[in-house]
Amino acid sequence: SPRVGVLALQGDVREHVTLLEGLGAHAVPVRRPNELDSVSGLVIPGGESSVMDKLSRLFGLAEPLRAAIANGMPVYGTCAGLIMLADRISDGIQGQQSLGGLDVTVQRNAFGSQLDSFEVDLGVPALGAEPVHAVFIRAPIVTEIGDRATALASLEDGRVVAVEQGNLLGTSFHPEMSGERRFHAYFLNKVRSSA
Ligand code: GLN
Repeated sequence: SPRVGVLALQGDVREHVTLLEGLGAHAVPVRRPNELDSVSGLVIPGGESSVMDKLSRLFGLAEPLRAAIANGMPVYGTCAGLIMLADRISDGIQGQQSLGGLDVTVQRNAFGSQLDSFEVDLGVPALGAEPVHAVFIRAPIVTEIGDRATALASLEDGRVVAVEQGNLLGTSFHPEMSGERRFHAYFLNKVRSSA
């Protein structure tokens, strides 16, 4: 079974570990650069991207993470994790950096305070006919999608909320909170085929 990491600086780490283990992976928290060396894929959880950014730089993980992404390690980011994977962030806090990798612009907290959180059934053709029950919490949206990235899902108004680019996958929402397993299974397929 593949050994995959969950970036454990901050955020909903436990939910991802449980879901990945349920899919037959060996999931381990990653807080230090040497822990990154021992995994063949990584999930970046939801939480607060500006905090994850600061902690990843403080703990010397930002550069090793960028190198792993550049080397083609499969990485799946949910919500704050998607923000971390975006090449460009709008509405970041002062000085906020991302790791990058996905040729997209994401806008943080894009739904505003009137719509802090909501749930919706989304069509995701890449995952089959059955819709995905998606939970959005202070979620970002993809406002610009570059040539190298592909949209996997959009809201009814056309706003993009799931993207893929090679071994990178990002969703604005939290499959790990609604019992939805297919995004993680899709990610694990990337891990298995790149091993
Ligand atoms: N608003 C958070 C951020 O900017 C993301 C929220 C989440 O991950 N649920 O990082």
